[in-house]
Formats: sequence, C-alpha cells, structure tokens
Amino acid sequence: MTIYSFGSINADHFYRLPQLPQPGETIACSDYSTGLGGKGANQSVAAARAGARVVHIGAVGSDGVWMRDRMTEFGVDCTHVVILDAPSGHAIINVDADGENSIVVFAGVNRALTMPQVEAALAQAKTGDVLLLQNETNLTVDAARFAQERGLNVIYSAAPFDAGTVREILPFVSLLLVNEGEARDLRFALGLTDAQVPLPDMVTTRGAQGALWQSSDGAHFSVPALKVAVQDTTGAGDTFAGYLAAGLAEGMVPQDAMQLATAAAALKVTRAGTADAIPARAEVDAFLK
Ligand code: ATP
Repeated sequence: MTIYSFGSINADHFYRLPQLPQPGETIACSDYSTGLGGKGANQSVAAARAGARVVHIGAVGSDGVWMRDRMTEFGVDCTHVVILDAPSGHAIINVDADGENSIVVFAGVNRALTMPQVEAALAQAKTGDVLLLQNETNLTVDAARFAQERGLNVIYSAAPFDAGTVREILPFVSLLLVNEGEARDLRFALGLTDAQVPLPDMVTTRGAQGALWQSSDGAHFSVPALKVAVQDTTGAGDTFAGYLAAGLAEGMVPQDAMQLATAAAALKVTRAGTADAIPARAEVDAFLK
C-alpha cells in the first residue's frame, strides 16, 4: 500500500529566550536553530521512517528546495512537491527558559495547492491506498472527497482544529486523529456527547497518558505511553500519526499499529527537534523488544 501524504512543509525557526517577549519588547536571543517541520512533512517523514512507501503532495517556495531535498533524504517521494514562486511556509518558535513556547506560523505556499496537482498525484493510486492529511493546507476537504471516491482510506489529523472543516470532511474520513484538546473541540463543534457521535474510527492521543482507539462500532482500547525521559514533545503527535498510518498500511491490526506508533512517539520525545528527531523503524522495533 502507498501512503499519499497531502500536507504542509514548513521551515521551523527555533529561538531560545530567557522569557517570551511582551508587546513592544525586544529580547536578545541566546540560541537559534532551524530545521524541517510542518505537520505534513513531519507525518510523511514518520511514515517513511516506519518503512512505508510515501508520496508527498505539497509545495515549497524557491527558498525551500532544501526542505524537499531533506524529505527525499528521509525516503519520501517528492515528485509531487511543486516549487512555487512565493515564500515557503515557516514557523517562528520562541521557547523560554521553562520550555514554554509561543509560535507564529506563516502558511505561505502551503495554501497554494491545486486540485489538478492532487489529481495528478493520485492518478496511480489503488483501492486501499491511504491519503493522510491534516489541516495546514488549503483544499483538505476537496482532496479527502476525491481520495475517498477513488477508494482510498482517508486518515485525517484534525490539527490545527477547525470546526467548519471537520464538519465538512468527516463523511470522507475513515480514521480521525485528534489530541485531547481537539477531542474536546470536536465534541463541542458537533454538539454531541461521546456516546452519540456518528464518527469514523477515531484515535485520541493523550500525551503522557498514551492513546485511545475508538471504533465506529463502539469497540475501544487504550495503549499506555511508554515511560521515557522527556526532552521535547514537539512533533510527538505527527510521529504517532505517521507511524500509525504506516502500521495500518502494512496490514497490522489496530492494536499492533497503536503499539508501534506509541513506541515511535516515545522515542521522539526523548530528542529535541521535529522531522530530524523522528526515529527509524529499526530503533522503534528494538525499543519494543
Ligand atoms: P504535539 O502537538 O506536541 O506534536 P499532540 O498534542 O498532537 O503533540 P500528544 O497527545 O501530546 O499529541 O502526543 C502524541 C503521542 O506521543 C501520545 O499518544 C504518546 O504516545 C506520545 N507521547 C507524548 N508525550 C509523551 C510523554 N511525555 N511520554 C511518552 N510518550 C509521549
């Protein structure tokens, strides 16, 4: 099975500061680093690191060719990542001495994707292939509808959460991924209680509490998080999403795919960074033994 990953590609700029700036304040920065990020790119890298065949559908500006190259180095097929004549997406991530952060995201060309691009990328897709997507691009609903009509399984990570989009996209989604905050937002957005929600299969990640799988038929199970020395939780959710999609695409039962994703995410939180910190499958398998 192939995972088609439709999503954002961002340059992450990390600034380490003594405290977060107040309005009107200028603060000297003690440490700066940059790396590949964006929920789409992170999820693609995670799925590829898990061993899946991953085709990314997205865009960078001419300032972002290095990001496409980096994804390719991680094993992601970037044939359908277009280079547009406008700025790439980027995130400015300020982190204070306590690890608290504030983030500014500029979507850039992540919101300039087109349906002909999606259609061309999915032209070779087969029934049972996966479309993995999140909410940092334009055209999420149209891409999900098109993929579902072609017989793909659509896995949607509802982040950043948007009530209007989630309402529109749900009919085309076979597996919905949310964290605890997004799960609350979802219940509020749909105006329904847990027991009544007419949802597809759904996974709720719960940080250090692990993750919960709820099938549309009412069956459910939890997987505890693995105990690790936490360094940086950024990208844990994306690592989980990419590994889960890869596990399911290779035919694992949900319990096994959830274990795999949980172990991969636990390893990620022991390392600083986003895409560059996502562990390889061999490390995850060794960690699970
Ligand atoms: P982020 O936005 O930081 O990427 P998220 O809010 O989307 O994360 P979380 O629910 O925080 O997602 O984390 C995803 C998964 O990562 C969890 O289900 C768990 O398996 C793993 N994880 C997160 N935090 C920890 C932790 N402190 N220890 C072990 N595993 C963790």
